[in-house]
Amino acid sequence: MQESNMTAIAFIGLGNMGGGMAANLAKAGHAVKAFDLSQDALDKARAAGCAIADSATEAAKDVEAIVTMLPAGKHVQSVYQESLFAHARDGTLLIDCSTIDVATARAVAEAAAEKGLVAVDAPVSGGIAAAEGGTLTFMVGGSDEGFARAAPILEDMGKAVIHAGTNGTGQAAKMCNNMILGATMVATCEAFALAEKLELDAQKFYDIASVSSGQSWSMTSYCPVPGVGPQSPADKGFEGGFAAGLMLKDLRLAMDAAENAGAHVPMGAKARELYEAFAGDGKKRLDFSAIIETLK
Ligand code: NAD
Repeated sequence: MQESNMTAIAFIGLGNMGGGMAANLAKAGHAVKAFDLSQDALDKARAAGCAIADSATEAAKDVEAIVTMLPAGKHVQSVYQESLFAHARDGTLLIDCSTIDVATARAVAEAAAEKGLVAVDAPVSGGIAAAEGGTLTFMVGGSDEGFARAAPILEDMGKAVIHAGTNGTGQAAKMCNNMILGATMVATCEAFALAEKLELDAQKFYDIASVSSGQSWSMTSYCPVPGVGPQSPADKGFEGGFAAGLMLKDLRLAMDAAENAGAHVPMGAKARELYEAFAGDGKKRLDFSAIIETLK
């Protein structure tokens, strides 16, 4: 009975995020054919119940859907062009979960449609723990048909799957969301730094601001001060979490998109400038909330 829900899925890009996501698809009963350039990633995928493909081309053959979770737009473009377009069978669903620029997301979706394939962009909110725990949020850009086919697969890897609109709007949602996140984290960090200079205790400030109009996710779910609020990377020396380098990547994507669209985004631009300096100072591997250290 359960077999009717089982889908043959290729998964390409088994890194920090993709490794856990592919494992969750296998755990949900799908037949997952996995590929990555790293042997270590392939070994982990095999241990998690995935079959291993010798190449992206091999993975793309004879499956109903292909999920990609790759570093950037150039990787998505080359995997799509060199492996998927020529080897995926007619009507295959392509789900790109990587965070990439809107223009590339739209270009690959258009090229896919010309080849008789159905593409959606489905970037995620949530980090490595959410990828492993199957609690990601997916924001999906694509046709109604693409969304209807992608949703049951994405539901096996996440807690929320939302149709944002046409191709590229999933990426637009991702970068607008992370632009808010970068700017509110900086604002939250500088407020804690100022509070300290004004001799206001961090815990007292948290107690007040978390139930006042200064409240935000950056404060109450991810407080940048150790020992204050729920457990967060601040309590672990800013290790793990969401790397400052990835925040910078997302802010750069948002600034490029804003420039192309003629949008005025001064707060986003300031956050990008601050994360450029922070990452350039050798801190890009630290959690992005560690920027509080430089603001103090
Ligand atoms: P990662 O570098 O850990 O993983 C990327 C994987 O892709 C690597 O294992 C690499 O070997 C593989 N790869 C690269 N080119 C390939 C190719 N041509 N064929 C097959 N495999 C290839 O990155 P990650 O942290 O897993 O992030 C993946 C994507 O998710 C990025 O776009 C990132 O911006 C986004 N994202 C990451 C996080 C996070 O917290 N890490 C959160 C949200 C979104």
